[in-house]
Amino acid sequence: MCRHLAHVGPRPVTLASRVTEPPHSLLVQAYAPADMRGGGTVNADGFGVGWLAEDGAGHSYRQPVPMWTDASFLDLATAVRSTAFVAAVRSATVGMPVSVGACAPFRDGTRIFSHNGVVRGWPASLADLAAELDTETLMTLDAPTDSAVLWALVRRHLDAGKDPADAVVDVVTRALAAAPGSRLNLLLLIADERGEPTLVATAVDHALSYLVGDDGVTVASEPLDDDPGWTSVPDLSAVVVRGHDATPEVTPLT
Ligand code: GLN
Repeated sequence: MCRHLAHVGPRPVTLASRVTEPPHSLLVQAYAPADMRGGGTVNADGFGVGWLAEDGAGHSYRQPVPMWTDASFLDLATAVRSTAFVAAVRSATVGMPVSVGACAPFRDGTRIFSHNGVVRGWPASLADLAAELDTETLMTLDAPTDSAVLWALVRRHLDAGKDPADAVVDVVTRALAAAPGSRLNLLLLIADERGEPTLVATAVDHALSYLVGDDGVTVASEPLDDDPGWTSVPDLSAVVVRGHDATPEVTPLT
């Protein structure tokens, strides 16, 4: 099962400070994850980062290769600085393609999304929910994967003006009802028109922790180091961080 993280803070930090440099960085979690559940041993089917630049624009970089093989990315990550970003490494679910479009994070402007887990019984189990999407959306999914459908469902709520936390929680709750036993750790980072970020992360049958530090809040599948401040998120809950300086709020999903 993939691993992902998100960071939001008051000052820009390098992507490398969370993605490649810590002792148990996402780069390490790609080849030596500590808490994989439900199959999979490495996260070598691709990776991606999505970030908000200092001018507020959204950017992303994804490749369907193991993160450790992309030397250009390892260099780029030391140069790109951001106050809000998401990163992911992928272990493709059996039957789902290995392609750049299937790599999280998915991005639409300043909306950045990742899914760590699997929808049980996909695609049939998601058919009723997917029927809410218009034909154009279904025909232009980034990839034929469970994660891409979940992203389209979240995006539909955002387009309708729904609060980001409500959008994610609604999709998780309904996907879980439609496909019991699914692993649904979702991450959404979104900036409003003033550039203020909101970060939403769910824990559904998968590992998730967060750390509040001087330079912001980091949410990650696995703690990036042995800092005793890492707090494990209880199963079936959502973590919400609103604004650059905010502290995380953890609430049960139902
Ligand atoms: N099911 C998703 C995919 O195949 C996520 C995979 C995972 O979390 N391991 O892309």
